[in-house]
Amino acid sequence: MKKRDFHEKAAGARPKERVDLRPDGPGLGRILVTGGAGFIGANLVRFLLKHGNQVTVLDSLASGRREYLDGLPVEFIHGDILDWTTVQRAVAGKHGVVHLAAQTGVPGSLQDPRKDCEINVLGTLLLLEACRAEKDQAADEANGWHRHIPRFVFASSNAPLGRQAPPATEDKAPLPISPYGASKLAGEAYCLAYHGSWGLGTVVLRFGNVYGPFSDHKGSVVAKFLKDISAGNKIVVDGDGQQTRDLIYVGDLCRAILLALESEVSGEVFQVATGIETTIRKLAALVKETIRSDTAVTHGPARQADIRKNYSEIKKIRRILAWEPEVDLRRGLRMTLEWFEEWRDTQAQWPRAASVAAET
Ligand code: NAD
Repeated sequence: MKKRDFHEKAAGARPKERVDLRPDGPGLGRILVTGGAGFIGANLVRFLLKHGNQVTVLDSLASGRREYLDGLPVEFIHGDILDWTTVQRAVAGKHGVVHLAAQTGVPGSLQDPRKDCEINVLGTLLLLEACRAEKDQAADEANGWHRHIPRFVFASSNAPLGRQAPPATEDKAPLPISPYGASKLAGEAYCLAYHGSWGLGTVVLRFGNVYGPFSDHKGSVVAKFLKDISAGNKIVVDGDGQQTRDLIYVGDLCRAILLALESEVSGEVFQVATGIETTIRKLAALVKETIRSDTAVTHGPARQADIRKNYSEIKKIRRILAWEPEVDLRRGLRMTLEWFEEWRDTQAQWPRAASVAAET
């Protein structure tokens, strides 16, 4: 398969069908995606293009991959969300910002809580500040410029809720148990504060456990199991495997993000997941079934500061944004596996691809 075919195909939820990247609607306009070269970002950028938007990506490539965006008509800014000048430039003239760039996990936050705080708290604050500056420009009619006040969608998770009993809901008091949970909670709080103080159109989405295409660089559970099996290794389940997660296919998540961008709802928090609780043990069995593997499953030590039972109630997003998850776990795993197989073929055919990230 040619590299371009692969990217066109991977743009939608159904890998078996060729997905046309020509816009099928007018779109919201110019959208900035921070962290757009990462897992969720690479899927979202395609989704936004498909829905008629112009996309700018701001990414430091700390963990994302430039080649995930190869061949796409996007403006790519290789930079850090902690650099104020870069952030201002990236936000200028945008109709919407989807803020995905982050230190993305509990283990990284335990290793370096200060870095986690800088990226997730200060980085988010700088982006909100840049949106506020756009709002000020828009209000300054004397200069005759036509500016937009960007809507702002923030990627959060259930980590802020920490030791709250499941299901995760929007109205439970956050009780984080990791620095990552604390930094995401601070990001949520700043989004709400910028709405309360300056009327910015901010929406917080708390993602469940996301899986899908463009996750080759991830250590999250589905990507890890698929990579372990294909490398001929055993599946290693952390702890007893009875811990649970709410697994959401990335295509469903992209729809929720677009709805949040396009809606007029602001200053709100939404759980975005499926409402279905799956044990990691059961997930390991489903991944084995999908890949038709008889690989052994072993158990490693339990993770530090891991949430034991984790699933979400999704009544609020259903009611207010009319969003519904559509892809069940078996189907989502098949589509993810298919992407991993194609990605491996592509990498074999295009050995340069792995080094492209270093060039920008
Ligand atoms: P990812 O690591 O694939 O993507 C993050 C992107 O941010 C990467 O491309 C990385 O290079 C970029 N980045 C990191 N630090 C940066 C910085 N200082 N400046 C600019 N770019 C930077 O992770 P992902 O899984 O796609 O996660 C995206 C967002 O969703 C994150 O905010 C994460 O916390 C949140 N989230 C993800 C999940 C999940 O299951 N994947 C669940 C809940 C929340």
